[in-house]
Amino acid sequence: MNNFFLEDVINKKLLSYQYNDIVPNGLQIEGISIVKKIITGVTACQDLLDQALLNHADAIIVHHGYFWNNESKYIHNMQRKRLQTILSHQINLYSWHLPLDIHPKLGNNAQIAKKLNIFIKGNIGIPYVFWGILKNKMTGIEFAKKIEEKFKKYPIHISKNTPEYINRIAWCSGRGQSFIKQAYKFGIDAFLTGEISEETTHIAKELGIHFFSLGHHATEKDGIQSLGKWLCKKYNLDVDFIDIYNPA
Ligand SMILES: [Zn+2]
Repeated sequence: MNNFFLEDVINKKLLSYQYNDIVPNGLQIEGISIVKKIITGVTACQDLLDQALLNHADAIIVHHGYFWNNESKYIHNMQRKRLQTILSHQINLYSWHLPLDIHPKLGNNAQIAKKLNIFIKGNIGIPYVFWGILKNKMTGIEFAKKIEEKFKKYPIHISKNTPEYINRIAWCSGRGQSFIKQAYKFGIDAFLTGEISEETTHIAKELGIHFFSLGHHATEKDGIQSLGKWLCKKYNLDVDFIDIYNPA
């Protein structure tokens, strides 16, 4: 497939032009014009680039690409090596950030709902923070065990002054801990996200809601894999996901 056509079909699928993001979405670095082999991953780190080379990739598609608004514009050290690897091998680097969190079927948040049996009711006014209802209400401990079963990782669970059963829940993949207070206004029993900050513990305790932190990486592996499966099925492309271990 032509590299710009690939960008276009994904942009259309993920409705990329609808969102203001803090990073450019789409084909960030142009490589060879015909894409045959695609590697997907969460972050375009050096380990993923090296694995993509071993797999003779023409394209890499990630959730966390380059050129973030708050990032230094100097190309030094680590960034120089990454760009050198990509440019010298004519690899196309594609990245979709918020569109891949938000998409109602393929997105990270939709995938969290699917794994944890949550019926999605909508968002809390922020398009990448969802809320919904557990199909079978459960206690905090039962829900933590369910997370462990589905994500292969026991979450950090704050549960002080909390209701016994979780029914209404809000969630946000990645770094969503700062939205806990806005989500609370939706009458939730629990909030789930990737990361936790020091103050999140106190906020959750004082609001009296369960808080679950699964790790940023763990909550953002499924969106990119769903996108890869969709590309495989719809366009018969050769796509492999590579998981670069990250405990955070
Ligand atoms: Zn992220």
